[in-house]
Amino acid sequence: LMLLTRRLIEIRSILLSIGEEVGLTLPSIVVIGSQSSGKSSVLEAIVGREFLPKGENMVTRRPIELTLVHAPATPSNPRPSTFAEFPSLGPGHITDFSIVQQTLVDLNLSVPAAECVSDSPIQLRIHSPHVPDLSLVDLPGYVQVASMDQPEELKDKIAALCDKYIRSPNIILAVCAADVDLANSPALRAAKKVDPLGMRTIGVVTKMDLIEPAQGAAVLSNNRYPLALGYVGVVCRAAKHHSRSLLKRSNPADEEGSLIGPIRQQEETFFGGNADEFSREGILVGTDTLKKRLMHVLEESMASSLHTISNAVALELEEATYQFKVQYNDRAISAESYVAETLDLLKAKIGTLGKSLTKKDVRRLLKSFLDEQVLDLLASQYWSDPRTPELGTLANDRSISPEDLDVYWQRKLDALASSLTKSGVGRASTQLVVDAIRARLATLAAEEPLIYHPDAAERINATADAILRERFTLTSDQVENSVKPFKYEVEVDPAEWEAGRQQSVELLQRELSMCDAALSKIRDAVGGRKLRGAMEYVGELEEKERRRRERRREARLAGQEDWADENEDLADPNRPAFNPALLAKAREAMFLSSRSSILRLRLLALKSRRCKTGPEQKAFCPEAFLNIVADKLSSTAVQFINIELLVEFFYQFPRDLDTRLSHDLDRAEIVRFARENPVISRHLALQERKEKLELVAEKLDSLVKLQRDKAQQQHPR
Ligand code: GDP
Repeated sequence: LMLLTRRLIEIRSILLSIGEEVGLTLPSIVVIGSQSSGKSSVLEAIVGREFLPKGENMVTRRPIELTLVHAPATPSNPRPSTFAEFPSLGPGHITDFSIVQQTLVDLNLSVPAAECVSDSPIQLRIHSPHVPDLSLVDLPGYVQVASMDQPEELKDKIAALCDKYIRSPNIILAVCAADVDLANSPALRAAKKVDPLGMRTIGVVTKMDLIEPAQGAAVLSNNRYPLALGYVGVVCRAAKHHSRSLLKRSNPADEEGSLIGPIRQQEETFFGGNADEFSREGILVGTDTLKKRLMHVLEESMASSLHTISNAVALELEEATYQFKVQYNDRAISAESYVAETLDLLKAKIGTLGKSLTKKDVRRLLKSFLDEQVLDLLASQYWSDPRTPELGTLANDRSISPEDLDVYWQRKLDALASSLTKSGVGRASTQLVVDAIRARLATLAAEEPLIYHPDAAERINATADAILRERFTLTSDQVENSVKPFKYEVEVDPAEWEAGRQQSVELLQRELSMCDAALSKIRDAVGGRKLRGAMEYVGELEEKERRRRERRREARLAGQEDWADENEDLADPNRPAFNPALLAKAREAMFLSSRSSILRLRLLALKSRRCKTGPEQKAFCPEAFLNIVADKLSSTAVQFINIELLVEFFYQFPRDLDTRLSHDLDRAEIVRFARENPVISRHLALQERKEKLELVAEKLDSLVKLQRDKAQQQHPR
């Protein structure tokens, strides 16, 4: 039973999966031979399948590390099929060997032609009830004569690549064609260089059918170029040369496409037909014999490597254990626990975030948004109205009662209040809060743990957006409904009035200081005198312009259609010239200073006894009234935004995250997610390395014990 080979092949693939080079100290059978020596045919005969790229120009450009896994029938799988897999291309059982062939062609062609050959091996595993456990390496064939498409450089590169693989402890399978003198075999020559006694070289002589049986038997008798492991003669012409009928004639119990039957038949015919020559003592013939020989030799070689590998693994394990202790204090983690922790952390952060966005905050947010709108309305409708100073004067005139006030002012105020309530408060305020939520969520993506997981961050945002989108229309409709009554009437009680009045005083005061600050900034930049000069000049220009317009109007009223503008020369030669930038500043300064004086007037009005009296005076103090409207709108809106948007969102969001971030992820995605965090990735890698080394060490231990017991049984003391 070739137990060691099987176990050690398993062990090697575990070691290689954690990038552990010590796996390479286990022996493989390296197949070398010159082009057309029949190397591919031998490999295919061993596997029993046609799977290697063929064709005149198709040189193998990369080593193929071929692992054969014996998969016997079991009660649960009485007819196991033969299949291949390319570990580097992910899991996948390929049962159609023409696909294996095509994949190998593609992988070979991935090496640029200029590079000729590459060191990077292709890994291929074939599982079958018809193969023994073997690990083989197929190398590019030696080029005999350099030619146009196979330059000298290629020849050297191939030789170098082969030299790399035929080192100890590997076993060399030197393929030579019977119709070529062994003395000329590049494979034997290369093997001799590294293994002069032939202790780990097996000769395979192909194409035995091409020479006289007697001559063939002489070659195989192993005395011209002796090898300790001997020569095996085979006849395994590639299947493409077999007629389909031969394949069909094969044993019906054989798998479809199997070469084993036909080759066995072919070899039996040839070697059995020449039994006098080939059944002599010490002469080895046939693919089956070759397979057994390879199994046996590999098993022995594995046995002698067992101690080396188990010592090497023990050392690696010791180092990994030490590092794990030092770096992580033996703390074990898993990708799953990381995902769970990350999710908890995230949910906690979202919870905090939800709490940080209180009703009070939202109300302040809405109010300051509406304040801006109110200020805009006031600026465009009142402060730039030339009649507004008059309104201030009237406010101080005690003899006038609200009913006596020009209806102009009442209408103006009503129009403004209604344009405020009808401005789409529902949509605007919902949008405002949605934006605030999104802005806060955006900060999450920039800090731990999401900083490591940009994809997840994006998915989280998408999850949030989906909820927000769903709540948006609902919320904004609700808010719009709730403010509907204000569109008809806004009731204000005296306490509200007083609070609103004070607030609007504050607002106007803030506006005034901003205005004054902007003005002095211009004055500082331009210089007081220069600015004053420029402002006077602009004032005159405006005055002239005003007069001109007036004259034109009078002329029109008098029916003088052909009235022509007399060309007044505006430039005064005694004055310094003003550049356009300065004039622009001067205009801005004039605007600011007139805005500043109207604001002062309005502040006086708002602080007047009349305004303090109560809401019935609202037409005199539009600022106070509009401020109260804004306040009512925002406090009503906030109730619905809170219920429909905030509470709903912060309830739904963590639940949706649970689904999207943990339930929906499969194992591979969980691992990928965890590895995105470099700290976790390093931790997991070392942990995995340690665990796998432990597993391997344990397996090796039991193999060593088994070997020892076997030795004792064979040589009892
Ligand atoms: P490689 O280039 O070394 O891989 O060689 P191949 O396996 O492709 O074989 C080269 C040629 O030799 C092909 O045409 C095969 O059909 C032929 N060939 C291989 N083995 C035998 C054999 O045992 N007998 C005969 N007559 N031809 C063979």
